[in-house]
Amino acid sequence: MMASAKTEIVQDTFLIGIGASPGIAIGEIFLVNRTRTAAVERRIAPYEVQGEIEAFFEAVELSKKQLEEVKSGVTDRQLVEHLYIIDTHLLILDDQMLLESTVGMIREKLVNAEGALKRTLKKFREVFDKIEDEYLRERRSDIDSVGDRLLRNLVGASQQSLAEVDRKAIIAAHDLSPADTMQMDKEQIIAFVTDVGGRTSHTAILARSLGIPAVVGLESVTTMVRDRMPAIIDGTHGTLVLNPSPETFREYLKKKQQYEYFEKELLAYRELPGQTLDGFHVSLRGNVELPEEVALAQTQGAEGIGLFRSEFLFLNRSVPPDEEEQLAVYRGIIEKMAPHPVTIRTLDVGGDKFVPEINLADEANPAMGLRAIRFSLKERTLFHVQLRAILRASAFGQVRIMFPMISGMAEIHECKRCLARAMDELRQEQVLFDEELPVGIMIETPSAALVADLLAPEVDFFSVGTNDLIQYCLAVDRGNEHVAYLYEPLHPAILRALQMICTAAKNAGIKVGMCGEMAAEPLYSLILLGLGFDELSMNAPGIPRVKRLLRQVRREDGVQLLGQLFKLGTAQEVSAFLEAQMKQRYPDLFKAPSI
Ligand code: PEP
Ligand code: MG
Repeated sequence: MMASAKTEIVQDTFLIGIGASPGIAIGEIFLVNRTRTAAVERRIAPYEVQGEIEAFFEAVELSKKQLEEVKSGVTDRQLVEHLYIIDTHLLILDDQMLLESTVGMIREKLVNAEGALKRTLKKFREVFDKIEDEYLRERRSDIDSVGDRLLRNLVGASQQSLAEVDRKAIIAAHDLSPADTMQMDKEQIIAFVTDVGGRTSHTAILARSLGIPAVVGLESVTTMVRDRMPAIIDGTHGTLVLNPSPETFREYLKKKQQYEYFEKELLAYRELPGQTLDGFHVSLRGNVELPEEVALAQTQGAEGIGLFRSEFLFLNRSVPPDEEEQLAVYRGIIEKMAPHPVTIRTLDVGGDKFVPEINLADEANPAMGLRAIRFSLKERTLFHVQLRAILRASAFGQVRIMFPMISGMAEIHECKRCLARAMDELRQEQVLFDEELPVGIMIETPSAALVADLLAPEVDFFSVGTNDLIQYCLAVDRGNEHVAYLYEPLHPAILRALQMICTAAKNAGIKVGMCGEMAAEPLYSLILLGLGFDELSMNAPGIPRVKRLLRQVRREDGVQLLGQLFKLGTAQEVSAFLEAQMKQRYPDLFKAPSI
């Protein structure tokens, strides 16, 4: 049931947004006034220019001071490692483009500081809005929150602090800046809901690492709710219920208890190995986009990082990170994960990942264009810098290097030549690195799957990127909702491709892992075991869920089940058969909520 801004909120008004952080919270709304500041643009006379410029710089200085105060007020250990977000905001306040564009606008267009700043922010927003990649687009929110703070300081509005929340509540806000989130008193704030935002916004990431349920992207929730309105949020499914009825309340209370019980039960798996009843060990590792997600992978019991998507270091900045900066990030992750290995994937840009400063030409078909390893093999200097940084990082712990989107032998040879060159250079400079550094490739193109037997003897490990492999094998754009119904991990073609890849790896005696989303689905774990995967790498919260299943099944059962699945002709048949079998074989494992 949807309601508009004008209507009374009836009982059991369900709103659907984006589940940004899982869990259920039941409580009252605390409405935060975070609407855009009303800054009025005004024409100015030439003699007013200097005064407006000075007012603008005063607002910049005040904003910096406020952010420094936020920083120094953070003592919570979990939050300290997120302070880099505030640093990002401080850097935005020093951004030459922002400063020069605003000052230029005041001088040339003769508008007041608020007007000039608003125009500059609009220009920035337009650039970000055109970006297809969800993560990058979300970085717009950093500009928004800094811009909003600046505007408030310019017009003299006060900054409402979330440290002032004085009762246990579900925070409802138009948007929450990372600074807001950091100031939150975790004891008081049980959940939050926002009008805007996506799953990969910093705020969402922070909420997940703090374990606060959150639903974002609810569009106009702040115009609908009132302070102290009773509400329920289900961050797993992205639902907000306003004015719940007693029945809904009881239903969600039960779900909440089940969820919390299940989470507690999962924690028990943290320290245990990912081992089947018949003694087959699978390394469960974390996929990481941002260095600050490493801590979460650790708390969920990851035996290392199976995929560090290094391209995220290159996003949201005007120049690519140099060797020293990359080294520092890689080293930080490696030291944190020790003694477990960290798999660093070289830059995978292009396709759905867009890095504006790297100047990718417009392509009619970017998913099949100059992306991933193709891009690195073209931009040799960038590649060389990254290889040197990864090699140098290997002196500080266990590192594995992985090349994305390999489509054939020639690319492996070329990558190895580049790696050998970087190694030679470091040897000459007498810089230490791991001479035995394992070199692996992602298998995510149909050609790589088809020639997996030729590729396997060339490398130390395979990691199957099912997100792309499914897209390319089934010719289904992974980001297109119109063909999403065809995106089927259990398609017989995919099962056959996975079997070819695993067989090739086994015959060559190399390890084979999976780091696509398919690895995180407990329903598939038994058949992945049957196929012979040695490693499954996934988003951190998925690890205990998959481990829970692994520890209660026998690999032999997976092999046997797989034999039956291979006889079926459609993804629907495979899926129905698998689900029925899993429920029948393991009724207790598949009745838990949100597994
Ligand atoms: C994949 O394609 O499955 C994968 C893990 O890589 P990405 O999602 O980064 O393309
Ligand atoms: Mg991929």
